Amino acid sequence: MPNQSSKQVSGWGRFPQFKHRVFTPRTASDLHSFVKNNDNPKTIGFGNGRSYGDSALSECIIDYRQAQNYLIDFDAQQGTFTCQAGVTLDEILKVIVPKGWFLPVTPGTRFITLGGAIAADVHGKNHHLAGCFSEHIIELQLLLADGTIISCHKNQQPDLFRATCGGMGLTGIILSATIQLKAISSTQIQQTTHKTGNLQETFAVFEQNQSSTYSVAWIDCFAKNKSLGRSLVSIGEFADDGSLTQTSKKARTMPRWFPGFMLNAWTIKLFNTLYYHRQKKPIKQETVHYQQFFYPLDGIHHWNRMYGRRGFIQYQFILPKKTSFEGLNVILKTIAEAGQGSFLAVLKLHGQANKNWLSFPMEGYSLALDFKVQDKLFPLLDRLDQLVLNYQGRFYLAKDARVSREVFEQGYPNIEKFRQYRQEHNMNQHFNSAQSLRIGL
Ligand SMILES: Cc1cc2nc3c(=O)[nH]c(=O)nc-3n(C[C@H](O)[C@H](O)[C@H](O)COP(=O)(O)OP(=O)(O)OC[C@H]3O[C@@H](n4cnc5c(N)ncnc54)[C@H](O)[C@@H]3O)c2cc1C
Repeated sequence: MPNQSSKQVSGWGRFPQFKHRVFTPRTASDLHSFVKNNDNPKTIGFGNGRSYGDSALSECIIDYRQAQNYLIDFDAQQGTFTCQAGVTLDEILKVIVPKGWFLPVTPGTRFITLGGAIAADVHGKNHHLAGCFSEHIIELQLLLADGTIISCHKNQQPDLFRATCGGMGLTGIILSATIQLKAISSTQIQQTTHKTGNLQETFAVFEQNQSSTYSVAWIDCFAKNKSLGRSLVSIGEFADDGSLTQTSKKARTMPRWFPGFMLNAWTIKLFNTLYYHRQKKPIKQETVHYQQFFYPLDGIHHWNRMYGRRGFIQYQFILPKKTSFEGLNVILKTIAEAGQGSFLAVLKLHGQANKNWLSFPMEGYSLALDFKVQDKLFPLLDRLDQLVLNYQGRFYLAKDARVSREVFEQGYPNIEKFRQYRQEHNMNQHFNSAQSLRIGL
């Protein structure tokens, strides 16, 4: 029988948080029989809780990791990897990197599960060339609410595949998947960082480096006027030196008692100015370990505590290429004037959208910002929502904790298809998160 408990659970942003019933199946058959016999429609799967808002929260949460944590197969010749959905990207990397393979797409943390990567169809710093995580799935297995297990991929049960990748756990429980890895011959990244003076220069660096594999910018979102959009843009490629060593650096831990008031407009502005000017030259070249390049935040466990008790909201939106420059100018100006920005402000270039019904990326630029939760934040975010919609943008479900149904659905042309599919297959009677109920999925 699965363990059952009542717990205070939240996503990574620690907002919202409330009590949930958590079911922890211990074995695969526990998981199957629980899903088959569960009659609470407010039920959702929980990976490693790295989505920021309420996508993995519901009255009833299935924490399936204990029951789904096996590596199944690794073909080190062909670079194909099969494992259960509760295995984390960190665990996968520990096995594949020493053999010269890497994840084809990785988000900014390695502490997410394979199931979470598929459900959010995550993207990385190479989206403009490699697309989303789902582009590299050879096959996945899904447990439906009636207990049936179905295999699908792009050409087999394509609708189920398109609904599941990016579908935030609303089609069933992903049990396992096989992915195609990317070959590497070093764990080092050759990184070039461009210090730009404004948004125009930032865009120019992205556009000039479109053929480079990885690109990402940290934006100083407190900079105004002529400096609006000034950034440090990092361009990266795996080195070719044959060294496949893992780093032995130990992560530090953010204390539980970290006072949230330490993070205010003044300290963030100071941090941003120092961080921006830390790099003296316009262009800096260095070789860094892949963990430093892809996962700088993983170096501090529980860094989410620094926003204090009320938590924070990560606000990530994407604008189409044709409106990106003007839209980001207006949005960054609004944030700078409100004086509420964060020091985590990340700009990425994206390639074409895929065919999944709810995957977030489209050709254009996305910006992700952290905002500490405080009463004056919500009116600002409502204003930003309208600006994002004015510039034909949309919001990322994996980060969202608050957008309204009206705002969310304007950005997703396939939303009706997704809703209908859920209804036709009775999925909406079994799997619903706090988020899906809020935005009417
Ligand atoms: C520091 C940090 C950096 C990040 N950077 C990026 C980034 O660069 N790009 C990006 O795309 N994302 C990024 N993310 C977001 C993160 O990758 C996603 O939210 C991911 O889905 C989290 O996975 P998880 O295993 O923690 O799942 P959870 O957060 O627990 O769940 C996320 C969603 O997946 C569903 N789910 C989980 N497991 C299953 C399963 N087995 N079957 C069905 N549904 C399931 C849940 O129901 C929920 O809807 C970042 C997050 C953090 C904290």
